[in-house]
Amino acid sequence: MKAIRIHENGGPDVLRYEEVPMPSPGPGQALVHLKAIGVNFIDIYHRTGLYKTDLPLIPGLEGAGVVEAVGDGVSEVEVGERVAYTGVPGSYAEYVVAPAQRLVKLPEALSFQDGAAAMLQGMTAHYLSHSTYPLHSGHTCLVHAAAGGVGLLLVQMAKLRGARVFGTVSTEEKARLARAAGADEVILYTQQDFEAEVNRLTDGRGVNVVYDSVGKTTFDKSLNSLAPLGYLVLYGQSSGPVPPFDPALLSQKGSLFLTRPSLMHYIADRETLLQRAGDVLGWIVSGRLKLRIGKTFPLAEAAEAHRQLEGRQTTGKVLLLP
Ligand code: NDP
Repeated sequence: MKAIRIHENGGPDVLRYEEVPMPSPGPGQALVHLKAIGVNFIDIYHRTGLYKTDLPLIPGLEGAGVVEAVGDGVSEVEVGERVAYTGVPGSYAEYVVAPAQRLVKLPEALSFQDGAAAMLQGMTAHYLSHSTYPLHSGHTCLVHAAAGGVGLLLVQMAKLRGARVFGTVSTEEKARLARAAGADEVILYTQQDFEAEVNRLTDGRGVNVVYDSVGKTTFDKSLNSLAPLGYLVLYGQSSGPVPPFDPALLSQKGSLFLTRPSLMHYIADRETLLQRAGDVLGWIVSGRLKLRIGKTFPLAEAAEAHRQLEGRQTTGKVLLLP
């Protein structure tokens, strides 16, 4: 089968389109014939080596397709079923072997592209808004990179929870998308000082929670944008890792909370996975949640997909099509 493989860490050019051996499912596993593959920022961290992995590596954690074979003891899915998943390594390929426990049935009304677009970023937006800091009406939140893959979904879910939502974006075009997703206020953080804007928009009170996936360039001002007892939910580092900092700052700035969550801990068991995926996929079917598939690329052009994602040129979801 064809797959993208990396043999050494580096820039997008290390993503090579190659012939690799076809995997076969062992006990508890299923072979999925992939129809759409999700591209996520974490794939860039694996490529560059910011997050360590064994090499060679077939990157990618997310996809949707048809179950083509199952190993012994699989009861969760059947051959021929349409499925979607996240958290399964080796997804930039025509086929992937996945633990059957990680597979979720794709509702008839959703396409493979919808499935591959919804799982990782959708369930991330879900746990951030429902579990890490459960929003409700009366809350005000700040969502950085609000026109990104997670960002557009998080803005919508925060509005569904009844919160007042501020979003930051880098361009007017992204601002339009964030507003269309429901953001009450949009700040162009490449032109405006977002800390000063949050201060102005909240009459000096600050927000209850900042969902910060940008990291290095936003961290300090995110802390300064919080109301006393506020939560800084640092869930990514698209601009680079945050340097070590003194926890005493949390006290000085208002007994703040800092957490660095990861999706895998919020979908650790099958019951929670099915619950979160059921919510996200169900809301897309019913129209409560809108997916934006910003760009699709042939699998062979994964390097270009990475260039655009890390170059801040994408909005919503980026997919690879095998
Ligand atoms: P996005 O679609 O959000 O793309 C990243 C966005 O970050 C860009 O479009 C850009 O938006 C913004 N950005 C700001 N500064 C930079 C910079 N220097 N370089 C590149 N981008 C920058 O990606 P994803 O939705 O896939 O992921 C968003 C973040 O969330 C990532 O950091 C990812 O690792 C994290 N994440 C964490 C999870 C978790 O469970 N912890 C799960 C899923 C994602 P703009 O142009 O508007 O500034």
